[in-house]
Amino acid sequence: MIAAAPVFLESYLAGRWVRGEGEGAALVDPATGEVVARASTVGLNIEGALRYAREVGQPALRALRYAQRAEMLGRIADVLAARKDEWYAIALKNSGNTRADAAIDVDGAIGTLKYFAKAGAALGEAEFLADGEPQRLARDPNFQGVHLGIPIEGAAIHINAYNFPSWGLWEKAAVALLAGIPVVAKPATATAWLAVAMTRAVVDAGMLPAGALSLVAGSTGGLLEYARFGDAIAFTGSAETAEIVRSHPHVRGAGIRVNVEADSLNASLLGPDAVPGTSAFDLFVREVAREMTSKAGQKCTAIRRAVVPAQHIDTVAAAIGAAIDAIGEVAPVVSPSSRAAVERGIDALAEGAAVVYRRAARAGEDQAAFVAPVLLRTDAVADIAHDIEVFGPVATLVPYRDADEAYDLARRGGGSLVASVFSADPAFLAASAIALGATNGRVLLVDPSIGDSHTGHGIVLPSLVHGGPGRAGNGEELGGLRGLWFYHQRTAIQGPAPVLAELASRAVRV
Ligand code: NAP
Repeated sequence: MIAAAPVFLESYLAGRWVRGEGEGAALVDPATGEVVARASTVGLNIEGALRYAREVGQPALRALRYAQRAEMLGRIADVLAARKDEWYAIALKNSGNTRADAAIDVDGAIGTLKYFAKAGAALGEAEFLADGEPQRLARDPNFQGVHLGIPIEGAAIHINAYNFPSWGLWEKAAVALLAGIPVVAKPATATAWLAVAMTRAVVDAGMLPAGALSLVAGSTGGLLEYARFGDAIAFTGSAETAEIVRSHPHVRGAGIRVNVEADSLNASLLGPDAVPGTSAFDLFVREVAREMTSKAGQKCTAIRRAVVPAQHIDTVAAAIGAAIDAIGEVAPVVSPSSRAAVERGIDALAEGAAVVYRRAARAGEDQAAFVAPVLLRTDAVADIAHDIEVFGPVATLVPYRDADEAYDLARRGGGSLVASVFSADPAFLAASAIALGATNGRVLLVDPSIGDSHTGHGIVLPSLVHGGPGRAGNGEELGGLRGLWFYHQRTAIQGPAPVLAELASRAVRV
């Protein structure tokens, strides 16, 4: 049960819920186009909120140890888990999510918080991180050096994309809070309702120290202008906005650390051995169909390019089309303007590729933000499928003649979050891991032995790296406790052995 849509989403700044001025931006129900909420940051004191986070939140969090902060993450997970139906209802209303789509966002967030609660507990009473043990640096054994990770002295500024209002908020917050860094989060305005409602639930539960978590509901309101050295910005969104964030004169001038998760033309490869009729072929078809339709293709990790043996491309196209036909509900994209952008993207792709499948519209899918899933087919030389990310239920088949060509085609994404490979040939899978490893943040290898147990091409796991080189932003999030390093300065400490030994005893190696 959810309350009627809030008329106006408030921001949580400096420990208070505050409302921006003016009419605000409209948040819509993508299935109907109806306005469900509004949000504005006009007139809000974002500078004061950042100061409060640094001056009140930071000392309070630093007074706790990793294990205590990990326990706090567990309590956040419990608060969120207790009200899942409410989150699903908001996700349906404001993001158009089916229950399965919402689970990726909501359950994914809770699972990530629980993961860091458990992993963080093992860090115990340590105060900072260590990379290795103290080492002798000179003939005198008393002169030693060690790398420590000292928590940064600022706020974590988290700017998120519209497709994961829940997971984006909590996967970033989990790591920053565990590190002892206060969070100032800004969800994308279009779907901010869920992030606001969840934050309110967590704030009301009263387990967070003052200043540990703030939320900006609406446009940035000068977050970048008021960032300062010592803060850390983690951005998720389009490559264009990422460039604005990175090149912002203030961010650049002050040398503020920035992590970027941007768009990505993820590839999935069908191995040469996986001919029609084999289970590797079937697993590939199922995965492409699932990736195209899950969250209406609005996952940064979704398969955009399906690279397949040229001689089987028609069979693959027909099989994927049949698999999508068999999928029940496909959600709308997030807003009518997204739908327009996806349709423009399909038109652009169609200049260099042919549409080989378009799902017939079903009852109720002819209005607002529904987009029928579309599969295109290009030839190996056309650039377009390797250039534009169409953020909807859209993928392009790309034919290859031999393995080297398949790898070259995959690399033309210019750096991606993830690639997957489907084959029953262990040698091909291993060779693919190496061939694709330098241009992808994650590579999923699927043979029939893990056909039913693998977690999926597009699913990000807290224990593994999320991020990718090049176009994908050159960022790295999660990846287990190693993700904590983003919020710590790795500093080389040199000095007398007893002092270093004492410091090392207060640190934990991750
Ligand atoms: P977007 O338009 O780039 O917006 C992302 C965030 O940046 C939003 O919170 C947006 O706020 C904010 N923003 C806009 N202008 C800004 C500025 N001048 N300074 C600072 N922040 C600014 O992206 P989107 O449309 O929400 O998301 C879709 C894209 O995200 C896709 O390209 C997708 O591939 C990518 N994505 C990547 C990942 C990943 O992990 N790699 C995950 C999800 C999505 P407003 O909403 O208020 O404008």
